[in-house]
Amino acid sequence: MTSPNKPHRHISRKTSYGRYQDCVAPENCNPKAHHGETKTSVCRCGATRIMNSKGSHFERTGWIETMAAGGHE
Ligand SMILES: [Zn+2]
Ligand SMILES: [Zn+2]
Repeated sequence: MTSPNKPHRHISRKTSYGRYQDCVAPENCNPKAHHGETKTSVCRCGATRIMNSKGSHFERTGWIETMAAGGHE
């Protein structure tokens, strides 16, 4: 059972990799992490976290809690 109202510590349950598309962390940007690969982690609650990485450089979002995980482009 999922309990959206009960906070928990998000854990990456599913991870997918793709090509770099855009800066994911405008407020915490690391331009050296751009144009590498993008890793998307998904928690069992549907929250996602996106990380751009290139070599040893990375930038990432915090966990983004969304109701429509995967349903929006
Ligand atoms: Zn979660
Ligand atoms: Zn950036």
